[in-house]
Amino acid sequence: MANKSKKKSAAKKKSVRTKSKPSKPAKAAKVAHPAGTDPKRVAAILTKLDEAYPNATCELKHENAFQLLISTILSAQCTDVRVNQVAETLYKKYPDPKAFAYATPSELEQDIRPTGFFRNKTKSVMGASKAIIEKFGGEVPHTMEEILTLPGVARKTGNVVLGTAYGIASGLVVDTHVIRLSNRLDLTRNDDPKKIEQDLMQIIRKEKWIQFSHQLIWHGRRVCHARKPKCIECNMESLCYAKDKTV
Ligand code: SF4
Repeated sequence: MANKSKKKSAAKKKSVRTKSKPSKPAKAAKVAHPAGTDPKRVAAILTKLDEAYPNATCELKHENAFQLLISTILSAQCTDVRVNQVAETLYKKYPDPKAFAYATPSELEQDIRPTGFFRNKTKSVMGASKAIIEKFGGEVPHTMEEILTLPGVARKTGNVVLGTAYGIASGLVVDTHVIRLSNRLDLTRNDDPKKIEQDLMQIIRKEKWIQFSHQLIWHGRRVCHARKPKCIECNMESLCYAKDKTV
C-alpha cells in the first residue's frame, strides 16, 4: 500500500514537471577579446603594413613643428594636397608665430580661404600662435597636456605634431581613415575617436604608434577607400573579413 502511494506521488510530480515551461539555455558568456585583436593577427597586420608602406609619414609639407601645427589645423575638412598648395605661399608671408599672431584677421582669412572654414581656422591659427608666444616662449610645446591648451587643437592635431615633428609617441592619430580602417580590420568596434585610440593603444606596442597611424592613413588614401575599397590590390585581404569587402 505504502509503495503504491509513493508511485502515485512520483507520477504526480513528473506530470507537474512536464507541464512546467522548459528553462532557457544559459546565455553564452561574452568574449572579452574579439577575434580581431588576437596578438598573432595584429602582428600579421603590422607586418603587411610594413611591407606595403615602409616609409609612410605625414603628407603635410612642413619645415618645423610650428608649420606642421598650422597645416594640421588647416587640414580639418580639407585634403593635404590643398593645404600644401596654400602652405607654399602662406609660410613665406607668415614665417613665424609672431607673424600669424599679429596678422590682420580679414587678410589671413583670405590667405587660407581655399582650405575651407576659413573664419574659424583664422581664429584657431591666431589664437594658437599667440598662446605659443605668450605661454611657451615661441615654441610648440612638447607634451600632449600643454599642446591641448592651444586654441583649436585637439588630440588628433596633438598626436600629429608630437609624433611627426618631435618623434614623441603620446598616442595614435585617429582621423577618418584610421576610424574606417581600424573598424574594417576589426581592431576596434568603436566609432568614437577617443575610444578607438584607447583600443589601438592596448593592442599595438608604443614603438609602432606613430608609424602605424601613418601607414593606416596611407592605406586608406591609396587602397582601402571609403566607398569602393580596392580589395583586389590589398595585401591584407586574407586577414580582412570586413562586411564591405569587394572581393
Ligand atoms: S581587404 Fe579591402 S576592406 Fe579589407 S583592408 Fe583591404 S582594402 Fe580594406
